[in-house]
Amino acid sequence: MEKILCDRCHKEIKSNKDFIAVTQYYPKFPYSKFHASCYSEFLKNRFWVITPKDGSGVISGKNGTRGAIIGIFLFVFSIIFFFTLVYPRIPHSTFANIIVLIFFLIGLIFLALTILLRVHIYYKFEKKLA
Ligand SMILES: [Zn+2]
Repeated sequence: MEKILCDRCHKEIKSNKDFIAVTQYYPKFPYSKFHASCYSEFLKNRFWVITPKDGSGVISGKNGTRGAIIGIFLFVFSIIFFFTLVYPRIPHSTFANIIVLIFFLIGLIFLALTILLRVHIYYKFEKKLA
């Protein structure tokens, strides 16, 4: 079985309790995995690393599942908000419609990425750890 290695200390991660995965854009995309203790060290020393702020980017464990669910709700809510309150008030042209479409697609991509990563982390790591 393939060992699961920590991205900070490069030692094996042996238990689910000690496993944390976070979304990250740079230098490692799309996520990093850590020991719980390495993650807190990582947060303190992440000057050159682009990762969501404190805990919001966690995609493992209960926090990760909750984050994915909140993501879905936020996305649905912002779609409803946008199409009921904002969209009817802006002047319509081809250009405006293209902007709306891009906005919508970016939201969809981020949502899909969050959910796919959550599922991926579960099957690739959490299921194998005790
Ligand atoms: Zn570590």
